[in-house]
Amino acid sequence: MPQPPTLKIVEIFPSLQGEGLRQGEPTIFVRLAGCNLKCSFCDTKYAWRGGRDYGPSQVVEKIKKMRARFPAHWVCLTGGEPLLQDLRQLVSLLKKEKFKVQVETNATRYYPLSIDWYTISPKPKAYSFAPEYQARAKEVKLVATKDLRLGVIKKLRQTFPEKTPILLQPQSSKRWSQRLAMKIIRQALEAGLKNVRLSAQLQKILHIR
Ligand code: SF4
Repeated sequence: MPQPPTLKIVEIFPSLQGEGLRQGEPTIFVRLAGCNLKCSFCDTKYAWRGGRDYGPSQVVEKIKKMRARFPAHWVCLTGGEPLLQDLRQLVSLLKKEKFKVQVETNATRYYPLSIDWYTISPKPKAYSFAPEYQARAKEVKLVATKDLRLGVIKKLRQTFPEKTPILLQPQSSKRWSQRLAMKIIRQALEAGLKNVRLSAQLQKILHIR
């Protein structure tokens, strides 16, 4: 039986990071259960509830076994919204094992964690985020939904340092969403906004898991 504090986890699996600047890198994913948002376009609705209880050390043992077969250096904590749960002990154990740790978050929650990479993905319509991410996010990823406008990109570009890319990601590789992302990128270019880029979901294009 896992000892408290336990984490509700939907799945742990090795793969390649399919999204963002870390695209293509071998990574072990830990998908935590639960989300405080209920986005209509969510492609991980199965993670909104349920999950199995694991103690942090059980998670690390499982990851170490995976690393023996798939020697990835990175662990990505994702969801759902992973920061709804207390990840401090898990992160500390992963760092002891010399893993690099990425957190993918909708950015509505923040508490200090010694990790290597925050990917934040503010969601419509508010596109709000905790201010602590201004200096900490390595990338800002936005799904190109019908709510996305140039004004959103302008505000985010003014808030985040230029070195932090704003990545527009078509919604589940849908054609209309690809066109919308391209249109907004062109508008951003014309408006003189720097470091606004297109980002694709490799896992969906190449059907990797
Ligand atoms: S924040 Fe992410 S995980 Fe949560 S509902 Fe929205 S898309 Fe899904």
